[in-house]
Amino acid sequence: MKQYDAIIIGFGKGGKTLAAKFAQRGWTIALIERSNKMYGGTCPNIGCIPTKFLIHKAKTYSCNEFRNFLEQASDYRQAINEKNALTQQLRDNNYNKLINTGYVTVYNGEASFVSTETVSVKTDKEIIELQAKYIFIDTGSETVIPDITGVKESQFVYTSTSIMELTELPKHLVIIGGGYIGLEFASMYAEFGSKVTVLESGNHLIPREDRDIAYSVKESLERKGIVFKMNAKVQTVYDTANGATITYTDTQDNLPYHVEADAVLLATGRRPYTKGLNLSAAGITTNAQGAILTNDSLQTNVPNIYALGDVKGGPQFTYISLDDSRIILDHIFGNKTRKVSDRKIVAYSVFIDPPLSHVGINEEEALRRDLDVTVVKIPAADNQRIKTLGNTDGLMKAVIDKNTHKILGCTLFCEESNEIINLVTLAMRTQQDYTILRDSIYTHPSVSEALNDLFNF
Ligand SMILES: Cc1cc2nc3c(=O)[nH]c(=O)nc-3n(C[C@H](O)[C@H](O)[C@H](O)COP(=O)(O)OP(=O)(O)OC[C@H]3O[C@@H](n4cnc5c(N)ncnc54)[C@H](O)[C@@H]3O)c2cc1C
Repeated sequence: MKQYDAIIIGFGKGGKTLAAKFAQRGWTIALIERSNKMYGGTCPNIGCIPTKFLIHKAKTYSCNEFRNFLEQASDYRQAINEKNALTQQLRDNNYNKLINTGYVTVYNGEASFVSTETVSVKTDKEIIELQAKYIFIDTGSETVIPDITGVKESQFVYTSTSIMELTELPKHLVIIGGGYIGLEFASMYAEFGSKVTVLESGNHLIPREDRDIAYSVKESLERKGIVFKMNAKVQTVYDTANGATITYTDTQDNLPYHVEADAVLLATGRRPYTKGLNLSAAGITTNAQGAILTNDSLQTNVPNIYALGDVKGGPQFTYISLDDSRIILDHIFGNKTRKVSDRKIVAYSVFIDPPLSHVGINEEEALRRDLDVTVVKIPAADNQRIKTLGNTDGLMKAVIDKNTHKILGCTLFCEESNEIINLVTLAMRTQQDYTILRDSIYTHPSVSEALNDLFNF
């Protein structure tokens, strides 16, 4: 049996970061990845990077309003081809970077626990057993396939992964699920030139956000031609000669409706992926949602086995997986001060056009908690830089503690919000008063300048 200092299951962000850091310390590492199309994990292959590349391309193309559908379809095909070239390059870089350390062996196969220190790898040709003192599970998450009649049989139904392999631009894309991933694809495909309909079972779009923000987002996306059907409980998907018919019930009027599509995207969430891992052989426990249970240092209930990234539940972001690797490194080599529970101020961005970014609490949460706060709000259109960028949709909002003057939360729905939110997050994390953002000297013209105005109350 082959012996290593560490076995890492899954080539995700956290796993590859651990592999590189262990290699620097002279550890021998077995990195097991079931697909040779996934070196680097979800983010560079089927997640953040390909979506953001395509979103950028779609926006660029949409500036030319006078293209017909044939031209739009040709631009789309080119964008998909360029995206494929980019992901291939990232995959190769990820692989070579680790192999070149001389300490990492990449096994292309499916990992499965045999015991608390032994993992088997099923490759195309054989089953190999590997042993290590430390084992790290970084197997990510998978798309939830909703229990809708006909979804599994339809040849027109796609996940976020398979739709990015589609080289034909859909004339009409129906998206089941109006969450963050659904909205990113809606915005992107509308800009490529598809007609887009979003079927959302809830009463409100993006219910985690304040109503004025959600309303502003919906209005902005509707201006791109996106149609939202709220309270839409999808019943069936069945194939016709040229596409699929989706039937749904409106839970408000209880009437049946249907819509025709030539592509259907499932955007109904992602769940931790542990299939095939045979966790029980090592006695590793999971919660009701299938997430691997971990302590504040990301150890599972078996102390030499850690879990990181999406598979351990919680927020599903690449930067969380990266930060998980920092917590583990500190736990093994450092002074054990980094903890999951200390990770309180974490921002997120949704890359619709313009992007929506948020950190901390929002107005509705402040009201619910009866906090003594000042809520400030300005339209994105007031900012000079945003005027130069063309898309003046959006709102900026912040919640400030009246007594301590600390920023409790901020939502930016505007151009470049994905960058500016990091500035607000830094101010919050370092416990600055809101006045630091109000009084800072920013370059001009910049979206950051809007913080001078937002916090000037
Ligand atoms: C469409 C989309 C867009 C996204 N956009 C963003 C974004 O803009 N910003 C952001 O921060 N996050 C985004 N995310 C989320 C982000 O991609 C994930 O949170 C992150 O990549 C998870 O990383 P991870 O380390 O948990 O594992 P992953 O990167 O998911 O890696 C897990 C790996 O484990 C492998 N694996 C699984 N089981 C086994 C096994 N038994 N044996 C061997 N290998 C196995 C898988 O093949 C996979 O390569 C997006 C996700 C999607 C789907």
